[in-house]
Amino acid sequence: MKERRKIFIRGIVQGVGFRPFVFNLARRFALTGWVLNDSLGVTIEVQGERHQLEAFLNQLRSSPPPLAQITRIQVDTIPFQPEESFRIRQSEHREDKFAFISPDMSICSDCLRELFDPHDRRYRYPFINCTNCGPRFTIIKDVPYDRPNTTMAPFTMCPECSREYHDPTNRRFHAQPNACPVCGPTIWLADGKGNRLPGDAITETIRLLREGNIVAIKGLGGFHLAVDATNEAAVQRLRRRKHRYEKPLALMSEDIPQIRQFARVGELEEDILRSQQRPICLLRKKHPNPIAPSVSPDNDYLGVMLPYTPLHYLIMREGAFLALVMTSGNLSEEPIVYQNQQALEELQEIADFFLMNNRDIYQRADDSVVRVMLGKTSFIRRSRGFVPRPVLVAEKLPSVLAVGGELKNTICMNKQEFFFPGQHIGDLENAETLAFFEQSMNHFAKILQIEPELVVCDLHPGYLSTRWAQEQTHWPVLSVQHHHAHIAAAMAENQLTGQVIGLALDGTGYGPDQTVWGGEILIADELAFQRAAHFRTVPMPGGEKAIREPWRMVVAYLQQIGAPFRAENFFPDVSAQEADLVRQMLKRQLNSPLTSSCGRLFDAVAALAGLRYRVGYEGQAAMQLEARAGEINRLSDHSGYQLDIRGDEFPLVLDWQPLLEQVMADLANHVSVSEISKKFHVGIIDGLYRAVRRIYHITGIRRVVLSGGCFQNRLLSEALVQKLKQETFQVFYHTIVPPNDGGLSLGQAYIAANQLKQGMMTP
Ligand code: ZN
Ligand code: ZN
Ligand code: FE
Repeated sequence: MKERRKIFIRGIVQGVGFRPFVFNLARRFALTGWVLNDSLGVTIEVQGERHQLEAFLNQLRSSPPPLAQITRIQVDTIPFQPEESFRIRQSEHREDKFAFISPDMSICSDCLRELFDPHDRRYRYPFINCTNCGPRFTIIKDVPYDRPNTTMAPFTMCPECSREYHDPTNRRFHAQPNACPVCGPTIWLADGKGNRLPGDAITETIRLLREGNIVAIKGLGGFHLAVDATNEAAVQRLRRRKHRYEKPLALMSEDIPQIRQFARVGELEEDILRSQQRPICLLRKKHPNPIAPSVSPDNDYLGVMLPYTPLHYLIMREGAFLALVMTSGNLSEEPIVYQNQQALEELQEIADFFLMNNRDIYQRADDSVVRVMLGKTSFIRRSRGFVPRPVLVAEKLPSVLAVGGELKNTICMNKQEFFFPGQHIGDLENAETLAFFEQSMNHFAKILQIEPELVVCDLHPGYLSTRWAQEQTHWPVLSVQHHHAHIAAAMAENQLTGQVIGLALDGTGYGPDQTVWGGEILIADELAFQRAAHFRTVPMPGGEKAIREPWRMVVAYLQQIGAPFRAENFFPDVSAQEADLVRQMLKRQLNSPLTSSCGRLFDAVAALAGLRYRVGYEGQAAMQLEARAGEINRLSDHSGYQLDIRGDEFPLVLDWQPLLEQVMADLANHVSVSEISKKFHVGIIDGLYRAVRRIYHITGIRRVVLSGGCFQNRLLSEALVQKLKQETFQVFYHTIVPPNDGGLSLGQAYIAANQLKQGMMTP
């Protein structure tokens, strides 16, 4: 008895080889019918014996093509029809165009094998790809995702490539970037003036890197600056030329055994490194190790990735490098360079040579950066390999545009229940990043066919993103408080609605009460929030300057609790004059905004513990403090400093006075840095835990949400989650977008779309 089914599939199912996969699967189970790409995804009708139909559906669900991401499958039984074969039907064009676009994916194992097979026609061809791998997001100019709408348009397929492209049984069936040495893009090596150099470009690049040169290499989402990571002089030269003195530089190694020579790789870290997204993963250093010290000075971690394009594999394997530095090709604080001419102009002071190609990059995408936390992936930066995958929320909502924050900016748009956080833009502080921000926004609106009804920004009037939003005349503008957006971002990705206790811990965010917030416990939902607790406030002498110079915060904290402190006697290169200026500022309350920041408290304790009292980038001091604490297995095994909770009504105040007094006492008793760090972490965790319990007793809310840059601290996150879970709290945190300001836009969009739905905003 034969039956017929109609199957609707939604998710990332176009441009990922879904139709040929269905075609071959149907033939395997002797089914007839058809498959069709439509504007909402893929529709299938299949007919055959019931057990064959079930086997077909099981395969469809359990092992779709590697790049596919199915969000929904609906199966209906429909009447039997006379029919002989299974076929792929021509696409329909519906009014409501809405298809997902795949992120860029690393080279697959089949293509990798062909790349190094001397008998294959694509032997050593740097642009080999197939339906299961290769560029996507970065080369797409418009939808539908067809070759004329990509930067591959200028290359006409040769007869052999064309045959593969039209054969449903071939791995390259409808692989839009399909190419070969006869018909596709090419690479060449150029000197600093753009003159092409003779010889094999790969072999010459390897030779130049061996000699210690800096080579700008055009990749998938932009240029990298590459240098031999074991050559200290070369790495130092790169840092000097790039004006990047402190931030760690990313590494690339060919495979896990090479990485194991200098860093620890756990099981999950190995999976992440090998995943098709190929992010940079933070790994603990081994000591001693052969990597140049300047790659990651004063830092216990190295950021490492595996090769992800055929070009990377050719360089890494034929060059047999242990590791190359592969850092974003940009002038400090500007977006990654992605065009050939632009590279020659902007990177000429940095790179000695340029490995170019003529496949254009349309959208920039930096490498993504992750860290393993709580047995899961935690993002530091979400970009290449992940964008434009959507975050699925609990229900369908009206479309909005969120413009994000100021640092680590991203934008976010949604269509129905799908929220699309954009790629990493960077710190919005110059014309170049602002232009990139607008490009990213326009591109998302175009490829996702979204017409936002509203624009949403941060409450901070000075952010460039806020000012941009205010200048728009065709949309109503909504401002959302920074820490509410942080909590809402974590709610969105965990599909939460309704009230939660939200711990938002970070460096700075605009508070509606003229103070700088940053150590907040909110009672929040997807619409609004109430401030339930915050860290005791302290002045930041010099404002922003106090972020780069944590010694200023030490003076401020200690002055606040009446413990006079002579910074000039404590910190080697702080002059009496500088210290005096800070004391005067505090006394007269000049340029010293009050802050409840959690990040500043970490900075101050790190400075007191002798780690860093001037930093090259935000979070540097806190990271070192975390590294010194080592592991905390069971919290109850350790004693911690005391964080007091004061007040009877909201907002409660988390008072760090006893904590700092205990730090000072331990310093006087020559207690070790690692012991101080451990006691500090335990104290903060215990204080936060007690505050949450207090709020629970008042409100009855059991769901706790963690967000904000401080939760990049693994020790803090893991121990706090463990402690809360023991007390039957339900704990939610980020695994899809970063807890830092890179995740803000998702939270802004989630709040705005919900307010719009509730009619709280009138479009
Ligand atoms: Zn492939
Ligand atoms: Zn060809
Ligand atoms: Fe923040």
